[in-house]
Amino acid sequence: MIKPAARLSDLSYGLRGPLPQLADTLEQQGRPIIRLHLGDPAAHGLPAPPHVLDAVKHALEHSRAYTAAQGLTAAREAIAAYYHRHGLALHPSDIHLGNGVSELVPLALQAFLNPGDEVLLPSPGYPLWAASVQLAGGVPVYYRCDEHNGWQPDRDHLSDQITARTVALVTNTPHNPTGAVWNPATLRTLADIARSRELLLMADEIYAHITYDAQHTVLATLAPDVPCVTFSGLSKICCIPGFRSAWMAVSGPRAATHAYTEAITQLASLRLCPNVPAQHAIPPALEHIHQTQDSLTGPAGPLRERLNTAWETLSHIPALTCTRPQGAFYLFPRISTATASPHDSTLADSLLRDQGVLIAPGSDFHLTSGDHIRLSALADPATINKAMTRIAHHFDTGTAT
Ligand code: PLP
Repeated sequence: MIKPAARLSDLSYGLRGPLPQLADTLEQQGRPIIRLHLGDPAAHGLPAPPHVLDAVKHALEHSRAYTAAQGLTAAREAIAAYYHRHGLALHPSDIHLGNGVSELVPLALQAFLNPGDEVLLPSPGYPLWAASVQLAGGVPVYYRCDEHNGWQPDRDHLSDQITARTVALVTNTPHNPTGAVWNPATLRTLADIARSRELLLMADEIYAHITYDAQHTVLATLAPDVPCVTFSGLSKICCIPGFRSAWMAVSGPRAATHAYTEAITQLASLRLCPNVPAQHAIPPALEHIHQTQDSLTGPAGPLRERLNTAWETLSHIPALTCTRPQGAFYLFPRISTATASPHDSTLADSLLRDQGVLIAPGSDFHLTSGDHIRLSALADPATINKAMTRIAHHFDTGTAT
């Protein structure tokens, strides 16, 4: 028998775990399932910008060769120009392209973590981060985001988690799973903490352009003097997660980041280069990013419409209470203690088996209270309405155990 490596034994990544597998099985048995558990806009029919698709199609024939490990120069120049428009001075050599933020996060962590190094992560938070810290030999340490304060990070709780082993502070705004957009004052505080405690900032900003009546702040612009890695990409804003088009940008004093950038390049070289056709999507995507943002999240945009529908219909379910999201495309409601509600995982399991609705339990996002669930609001309004009716029915009939 080939035994899996011991370091995988504690690793959890529920989003692709047993519940989605059960949903597949039920579907194979003829039960249609409404899937509200993943953040894939393409799977729900949201369109990619035609100019982005055209650029990739046109580049296809000339994309057969490897690029440099860091990625196409033209794409890195476009990313440097994009951050320059936000007020952050970067050189293309500060930028590394990757097959999704999901590839870049483990790479960035492996390039600097030593065994036992502690990394501060938001709770709740996107599970890729904790799994990647663990795989790199580090220890995830969670700081609280406060539901009573619009899910902004709790600065005092965060400070209390810092030890002599803490080496990095991870941020994620707009935030998955809560949809909170962290305000500039909060971000400044986090940057101050990183500066005074000499922590590397790691900013996951994949939802940077998915905001509703709130302004996203690029964390690195608030702290150009603090070493920071900003992660972003086109999966969400261009509705092309399957292309795996993403980047990370290292900012801060070169003297402090130079060796780290070299280590990243060394590691990135092992996978030769990211998928080349997808890199050609980046320059046109960034050139027209504001039009794309408007078309999705503006007054008539489908993301805004779907999120509003989801939030409004969910608000009519007495057993659930939800802070209104300002960004991304998820709802993260609390299950009221007044209901006969079970632990989040049990609820997710019964919603799937009894109502044919697949959602994610809050515990998949390192929230130990067990009283939240995450729903993605990407389905069309009719499907969202149907799902909410079924969820409401579940609570009404007391099928919750
Ligand atoms: N970071 C966050 C917060 C996410 O929600 C996701 C995907 O859902 C990712 C990173 C991964 O994105 P990518 O498609 O670029 O791998």
